[in-house]
Amino acid sequence: MNAPTDVADALRLAGALGVDRLDAQLLLSAALQQSRAWLISHDDARLPSDIARRLAEQLAQRAAGMPLAYLIGWTEFHGLRLTVSTDTLIPRPDTETLVDWALELLLEAPSKARVVDLGTGSGAIALAIKAGHPLASVQAVDLSAAALQVAQRNADALGLAVSFQQGDWWQPLAGQQFDLIVSNPPYIACADPHLPALRHEPLSALSPGGDGLSALQTLVEGAPAHLHPGGWLLLEHGYDQAEAVAAALQLRGFSELALRHDLGGQPRVSGARWLG
Ligand code: GLN
Repeated sequence: MNAPTDVADALRLAGALGVDRLDAQLLLSAALQQSRAWLISHDDARLPSDIARRLAEQLAQRAAGMPLAYLIGWTEFHGLRLTVSTDTLIPRPDTETLVDWALELLLEAPSKARVVDLGTGSGAIALAIKAGHPLASVQAVDLSAAALQVAQRNADALGLAVSFQQGDWWQPLAGQQFDLIVSNPPYIACADPHLPALRHEPLSALSPGGDGLSALQTLVEGAPAHLHPGGWLLLEHGYDQAEAVAAALQLRGFSELALRHDLGGQPRVSGARWLG
């Protein structure tokens, strides 16, 4: 493939490859460290050959389905700019529903409420909660050491004090209790037709295998031992899993079950309270 010579040429190449114009502008803007406004007024700016070659490669990868966030190395979540890598799920706007709910609950919680985010990935949920409610003491857990490095880097870059621990769900939290437990666990069923389109993201963050409910079950089962009386559990789940999650919460003895929908109108986050 011929490397593009200038900005206009790069946008032409993107069009020929079927890459969305906005994505192409964001890639160019990251490669040249210039704003999109600058690009528009510098159509004829020459591209240094190393940048041009790398850009041609990235446009080809984007055309083949590589998410833009991985190519530019960051995404925005709940107003925070977060580094992401292929070791982490790319945070979705849908998950902001969970964060907004958590922040509402924290308004009524003890001022120094203890919060934990299980399966934190890039740290998105934990960091957005800490940013929105700085008095909360926020912990986050992930099994993946590589993901935790990304999360710690995000915490450092944003100056947000979240404490990260490596381990399998509840395992690093023995004996600890919280006012609020949140999680966006892997929940996609292994036969879900959407899974192949997500192939660039870590499978372990997307699907626990089987019907997709096992991680949600582990969270519901273990939460009471880690909740102060009156504490809340908020779980993101698949569009068709709200009933199964509600049944599990009820069976485990939770109260005040509630459900919120995502931006697309799908039932996406279930919450319930542990009265002890
Ligand atoms: N909501 C994401 C999707 O469907 C998946 C996130 C997850 O499995 N926790 O693309």
